[in-house]
Amino acid sequence: MPSVFIKTYGCQMNERDSEAVAAQLVAKGYSLAPTEAAADVVLLNTCSVRDLAEQKAINKMRNLVGTARKDRPGQILGYLGCMAQSRGKELIETLPDVDLVLGTQKFHRAAEYLDELLAGKREHIVDIGVEAKSEATIREHLLNGSAKTSVSAFVSIMQGCNQYCTFCIVPYTRGEERSRTIPDLLTECRELVARGVREITLLGQIVTSYGKRDIPSLEGKSAFVQLLDAIHGIDGLDRIRFTSPHPKGYGDDLVEAYARLPKLCESAHIPLQSGSDRLLKLMHRGYTRARFLDIVEKLRRSKPGIGITTDIIVGFPGETEEDFEQTLALCREVQFDNAYIFKYSPRRDTPAAAMPDQVPQSIREERNHRLLDLVNEIAARKYDGFIGRRVQILVEGPSKKNAARYTGRTRCNRIVLFDGSARHQGQLMDVIIERTGSFTLYGDPAVVGL
Ligand code: SAM
Repeated sequence: MPSVFIKTYGCQMNERDSEAVAAQLVAKGYSLAPTEAAADVVLLNTCSVRDLAEQKAINKMRNLVGTARKDRPGQILGYLGCMAQSRGKELIETLPDVDLVLGTQKFHRAAEYLDELLAGKREHIVDIGVEAKSEATIREHLLNGSAKTSVSAFVSIMQGCNQYCTFCIVPYTRGEERSRTIPDLLTECRELVARGVREITLLGQIVTSYGKRDIPSLEGKSAFVQLLDAIHGIDGLDRIRFTSPHPKGYGDDLVEAYARLPKLCESAHIPLQSGSDRLLKLMHRGYTRARFLDIVEKLRRSKPGIGITTDIIVGFPGETEEDFEQTLALCREVQFDNAYIFKYSPRRDTPAAAMPDQVPQSIREERNHRLLDLVNEIAARKYDGFIGRRVQILVEGPSKKNAARYTGRTRCNRIVLFDGSARHQGQLMDVIIERTGSFTLYGDPAVVGL
């Protein structure tokens, strides 16, 4: 049987989609190749959120075409996911050696299309259609890959996005919001727990919009909170996380869920995008800076010590120095544990790409540096605040960089390294934090008698 290598660009949803495709192929008898060069099939699962991610995948494919045609003439090459969806057959027109282009609602068709391509029945396949119920097809898990995946797993609860932020390509690449049912998700989560998983992260483009159309509120609880409640009831599961939410999804029911559900980890990644109300409106975000601050305040009251991270875009069209200063001021006020900062990247067919007053690249760079300096300074101070503290971690497995060290995460989602062994894997354990590194804590389990 053939071997496959999948390279993934972009977000955790893309990682999850790749895992599901790999698991579907393994179930059909494929093996997972250790490198691209050793694979019969190489698939690039792409990201379109910024131009840089698209260019990386295109350059990678160019290189693959060069080596494949020289060293492995029969190798099948394919694009999957968001860029495949947005560019479609144009990808084959510019690079005719590409065999497969598979959109975001067609991941589950990979095996049948690869069969046809490997058998020489078809030369090229492009499928970027809409497919009803495709949201429920991302359900197979590998788990037998790295040790880490057997302790902690990602579950895709929905697909698509209806928010239409003016900068964002996602509604066009992922389609309309479609949610899986609670019973279907419970079955998947229970199976994972039966296979040894102790932490589940629920995934969606806007995870807090889960089930909005199909599942009515019940006793003041949104569909998403009802799902959290249901998953919380699974015996043997220790921790629940979710990403990415939208600030508008933080109703009181969700804030209360943090206090009410002990398995729900006190960590929240809440994309801010900008601290300026004027820009939030132009971005079509649907909240103000005051509302954002209110959510943070409520969450911290409900769960002191909650880890709060965010996404921010600098250089959105029309962003003035004053707007940017408001973002800096908000970051000082909130004291995020970490923030992912993105330089605005115009995306095709999005309203912001056609807005006046596009910010010059040099100013985007400069603001990126200034904000990064501030965010890193705050984050380092917060990391130092952990020294001497006792924290609970879930041990995921050996560290990738140093096999003598084991790695785990705190409930507030910080990585902790410690001198461990295989017996620690999958354990919830306490460590005392001794020192910090760059976005890492170093802990000592010996101190607490393990
Ligand atoms: N759920 C998230 C939200 O509420 O906005 C969306 C996740 S998005 C795939 C990841 C991040 O990419 C966004 O939060 C945003 O900061 C960034 N992003 C999206 N479009 C962008 C663009 N055109 N330029 C730069 N950054 C962008």
